[in-house]
Amino acid sequence: MSENPELAALVAACHWIGQKGWCPATGGNMSVRLDEDRCLISESGKDKGSLHQDDFLRVNIADNHVPSGRTPSAETGLHTLLYRRFASVGAVLHTHSVNATVLSRVEKSDALVLEGYEMQKSLQGQHTHLDRVAIPIFANDQDIPALAARVAAYADTQALRYGFLVRGHGLYCWGDDVAQARRHLEGLEFLFQCELQRRLLEAK
Ligand SMILES: [Zn+2]
Repeated sequence: MSENPELAALVAACHWIGQKGWCPATGGNMSVRLDEDRCLISESGKDKGSLHQDDFLRVNIADNHVPSGRTPSAETGLHTLLYRRFASVGAVLHTHSVNATVLSRVEKSDALVLEGYEMQKSLQGQHTHLDRVAIPIFANDQDIPALAARVAAYADTQALRYGFLVRGHGLYCWGDDVAQARRHLEGLEFLFQCELQRRLLEAK
């Protein structure tokens, strides 16, 4: 596993996420695709800021089976859904930041709309601040297969790009590789902070 540059990039991203304070108290989970059939996902209960390469477990994308028998993140089913659904997805980052958690509760509709921000261009395929980028918000659920089914049903009828929020919980985002997933995470977190501050100021 030590020869996989994408895994090395993911471990570095986890350390950066830890420094940002976006995965407190062992929350969150991260993964990278190995091939068409398998991904590597962080082991349950580990501090994301101090993960090592051997803290990632091989998981079968088709059925969430873990050949090693170790326990992967409780939210593995959301990662494998994204890999199954979108052949282009190469890495998935799931964080529990304050801004994502608060905004997903403050916004009462089923999507957080970002518009008017130059930093929307940090998202692949976005070329202007004039477009509307809608990040869907799903109700939180301790039943991960049920939550995954709702995300899948959404993706059946609408484009699902960049990421989604889980209300009162956090952000899932992804990219073609770790570098792009990391850029999307950083861009979205910046946009969330802007949006939260804008709403606070405009409410006064
Ligand atoms: Zn979570």
